[in-house]
Amino acid sequence: MNIHEFQAKEVFARYGIPVPRGIVATTPAEAKAATQELGGRSVVKAQIHAGGRGKSGGVKLVRSPEEAEEAARSMLASTLVTPQTGPEGAPVEKLLIEELADIKNELYVALTIDRGHRGPVLLVSTQGGMDIEEVAANNPEDIHTEPVDPLLGLMPFQTRRLVRRLGLGPTVAGSAAKVLTALHQVFVENDCSLVEVNPLIVTGDDRVVALDAKINLDDDAMFRHPGLMVYRDVNQEDPLEAQAADLDIAYVNLDGDVGCLVNGAGLAMATLDVTTAAGAAPANFLDVGGGATPEKVSSAVKIILSDAKVRRVLVNIFGGILRCDIAGEGIVLAYKETGSTIPLVVRMLGTNVAEGKEILGASGLPVVFADTLTEAADAIKQLNI
Ligand code: GDP
Ligand code: MN
Repeated sequence: MNIHEFQAKEVFARYGIPVPRGIVATTPAEAKAATQELGGRSVVKAQIHAGGRGKSGGVKLVRSPEEAEEAARSMLASTLVTPQTGPEGAPVEKLLIEELADIKNELYVALTIDRGHRGPVLLVSTQGGMDIEEVAANNPEDIHTEPVDPLLGLMPFQTRRLVRRLGLGPTVAGSAAKVLTALHQVFVENDCSLVEVNPLIVTGDDRVVALDAKINLDDDAMFRHPGLMVYRDVNQEDPLEAQAADLDIAYVNLDGDVGCLVNGAGLAMATLDVTTAAGAAPANFLDVGGGATPEKVSSAVKIILSDAKVRRVLVNIFGGILRCDIAGEGIVLAYKETGSTIPLVVRMLGTNVAEGKEILGASGLPVVFADTLTEAADAIKQLNI
């Protein structure tokens, strides 16, 4: 789960990480009042679940309350497109109005999981404020990393080593080390998959402040943090993904035109691979799960069918806990209720496969049956759409 910058900064503040004084505004009048309160000047920041706002008009420095009001008016109710949002952009419904920072130095800090190391990794760079992907591509030597042992945690020598690489003077180094330690604590205690501060700044008076804040929470660990659920902002999520999450269906929206209905995450990934290898492009990853009812299967199919990109559907069901007849019933239900005529290729195996195929065969839906996954992918490829 992604959360907003102002929420991530609330979390940071709870861990003693310095953040600029800020006020959330949802109207131009509130932005004006907030700027007044902050001394007449401020930075107006669009709150969306994506970065790259600075380059795309989502971060504006203003010199008066009126200017803040004006900036807020143009940002609010707009859809902000940044390099990270995709062409559809993200709706701006909240602004963070912050005191202006006196920036002497912009640094980059992040924690994420490194699969190679099988644990968290702490990254720092002197190239803060930049696209880290660009730094990684052009100046990889400017990114310094420390793998963190999950049992020992972040060791003081590791923090000192990173701070030294940032080339900070003695007073700043001490504060920076404290911030790195606290960020690691945020990462571990909240089951984050990403904590990123870009930029972490050194101010003119040598304070270390998190000027930006990004936190990604691990969805599978959210049950351990019910208090963080209040941070969910459904309006920032892909509507189909949000709908699927509410139905407890594992779904990820992709770019292609082949809607995929699969039971089991591994089978779903294999289905995407084989579909892609056959020269077709999946529109989604979807794992309907084991104990699905016809209604749940039907909801999953409706999510697939309501995706405007989908022009053909590939069903790959291995009937075990989810029986093939239940899957068949669910598919027919969704097609009947939506009146869809999108062709589908069905590969079914396992429990009640004969019944499942019979239900689909008798339904009048535009179904092509396949016995193996490879045949199914070829059939998808050959569909005349
Ligand atoms: P992002 O582009 O979405 O990552 O948004 P950021 O919060 O990182 O802001 C983008 C850039 O705006 C930062 O790298 C800073 O250079 C600049 N910026 C943000 N707040 C301030 C501020 O208070 N004062 C100044 N001078 N620049 C700021
Ligand atoms: Mn940033």
